Amino acid sequence: MLLTRKTQVHSRLGAKPMQADCTLASVHSILEFETGIVGVPDRRTGFLLNIVTIDEAVRAIAHPIIARASLDDESIFATVRRAAVAIAQKLELDARVRVAYFACDLNPHTRVTYKRADPALSTLTPPAMPQPTFEITASYEFAASHRLHCPGLSDDENRRIFGKCNNPNGHGHNYRIEVHCTVASEDQTAFAALDAAVENEIMRRFDHRHLNLDCPEFAALNPSVENIAMVCFGYLKQALGNAGLTARCVRVYETHKTSAIYPSGHELDHSPQAKPAL
Ligand SMILES: [Zn+2]
Repeated sequence: MLLTRKTQVHSRLGAKPMQADCTLASVHSILEFETGIVGVPDRRTGFLLNIVTIDEAVRAIAHPIIARASLDDESIFATVRRAAVAIAQKLELDARVRVAYFACDLNPHTRVTYKRADPALSTLTPPAMPQPTFEITASYEFAASHRLHCPGLSDDENRRIFGKCNNPNGHGHNYRIEVHCTVASEDQTAFAALDAAVENEIMRRFDHRHLNLDCPEFAALNPSVENIAMVCFGYLKQALGNAGLTARCVRVYETHKTSAIYPSGHELDHSPQAKPAL
């Protein structure tokens, strides 16, 4: 059983930007954290852990660590790990539960998650957490037009399958792409490397383009949101790998109702807001 809890905290601790590409929310913003707890629910209450207990621990223990750390030189990875360990020490006083992950929104577009390799193990100190991983999730936006059309089908058949999306002159979307990746080291340049990979591999290719007409990737491939996700993942996997990051998956939203995740099989715990396109 995995229980997830988002805790919002009104920051009053004077957090200031850590650095240009990795900015903690400023003093008047709301910081959001997410805690994942595994274990067996209590038979009587049905609770794995009371969510009030989680919120209190995040507000009293984790948040001050995150907020105050922005005032010194500690890397964001070390800070998030410190907060995760501290919150685990508190919550795991209840021996039925283990903290599986702890996530912190650095800003509305970027989240860092400290994920334990095996949350079933007792883990109150960093050395006892075998091969934990840090995950970064970042969200971006691009605008593009496309037309869904299969040349091998009749015009009537295309209209029947694709409806309005078969409009001969195309139509537009504000796509949102979430990139989920893990980092091999705790090098804070990972954030800039991720931004650069998305800029070079996705934005330069697809932003403000007609996907069918301007982009060779979709000259013979219908630019459905499923295919866009697959193409984006292929480009990002290579580029992120070159930068020491491992792409887990991408999620592309065509509308707020419709998205495609590629490859599938990943637990996606968060959907940050998209960075607005310039
Ligand atoms: Zn469309």
